[in-house]
Amino acid sequence: KIVLGIETSCDDTAAAVVDETGNVLGEAIHSQTEVHLKTGGIIPPVAQQLHRENIQRIVQEALSSSRIPPSELSAIATTIKPGLALSLGVGLSFSVQLVNQLKKPFIPIHHMEAHALTIRLTNQVEFPFLVLLISGGHCLLAIARGVSDFLLLGKSLDIAPGDMLDKIARRLSLIKHPECSGMSGGKAIEHLAKQGNRFHFDISPPMDRVKNCDFSFSGLQHVIERIIVQKEKKEGIEKGQVLSSAADIAAAVQHTAACHLAKRTHRAILFCKQRELLPQSNAVLVVSGGVASNCYIRRALETVTDATQCTLLCPPPRLCTDNGIMIAWNGIERLRAGLGILHDVEGIRYEPKCSLGIDISKEVG
Ligand code: ATP
Ligand code: FE
Repeated sequence: KIVLGIETSCDDTAAAVVDETGNVLGEAIHSQTEVHLKTGGIIPPVAQQLHRENIQRIVQEALSSSRIPPSELSAIATTIKPGLALSLGVGLSFSVQLVNQLKKPFIPIHHMEAHALTIRLTNQVEFPFLVLLISGGHCLLAIARGVSDFLLLGKSLDIAPGDMLDKIARRLSLIKHPECSGMSGGKAIEHLAKQGNRFHFDISPPMDRVKNCDFSFSGLQHVIERIIVQKEKKEGIEKGQVLSSAADIAAAVQHTAACHLAKRTHRAILFCKQRELLPQSNAVLVVSGGVASNCYIRRALETVTDATQCTLLCPPPRLCTDNGIMIAWNGIERLRAGLGILHDVEGIRYEPKCSLGIDISKEVG
């Protein structure tokens, strides 16, 4: 079995060809990050236009580097939910055309399911396992019980941690910091935090009294922004210049976010063990998404998995962020399980909003 995967849910146009054993036969990606960095965020019609300009070439590159003739593909898998409507639309209409032209089955993909299952391409991980997805666009904790069988334990009630870190980095003007050029907001914070003192500011983790597995990052963002305003006044500098206390602020925000993520994850593990939703020993916690590459956050999560006899696994960074390989692999998983394979694409729609699995967050306490 060989699947072509296509991803356009956000700001990456990506495609890959993957076989049944997880061999990546071909791949290509076009990132729009540079364009969106200049505008300070994604402008959906701009993202749509860039997807349109690149999708044909990216899919062609993935196919030709795989040396697999299109006739040998078993199916085409494409992200149809959740994501930016205009971006999802480009991937879906391109795929519908290709499916009709090549007369292949179509496998609609849930973007979060694909992130969650990526670990099964790189490691031998059996269901059930716990998964924490932390990126610029999402933040959730779920139990993966099967290829398309998830229980949602909690999610962010406002923004995702990567989004919060990006906003703080922008507010701190880290782009202008000589040591942080070309880094994403999260990476710049991680870099600068190494030189800072996380105890300089005393910030309590978000939602400390709320005993569930939901997350919140916008309150923390506002607390940090207030500190920045105070420091700017104190240091007598203009908005837009880099503060001398930027490193301490970076360390504090990273530490507080790490504590929050670790505490929620700890609660989720205890809940799962108590309900026998995960094995009592050697349960697996998978952490993925762009923020998973943060070593400080990873170490905080490791103290949780060590204390609960769990194993922490992360896909390699290039598979943690959006890519075509995870979509193709999700297609392979679905083909093997015989789930959600369409032979008629008439009437298929994308869904900008779509949660992952069954929401049991109200039961977690
Ligand atoms: P999606 O949410 O749809 O997966 P995205 O582009 O928002 O897409 P990713 O590509 O997975 O998210 O990751 C990008 C995010 O990860 C950015 O918010 C970035 O700041 C953050 N990030 C990257 N490296 C680090 C790091 N070392 N520490 C913390 N955050 C990081
Ligand atoms: Fe993603």
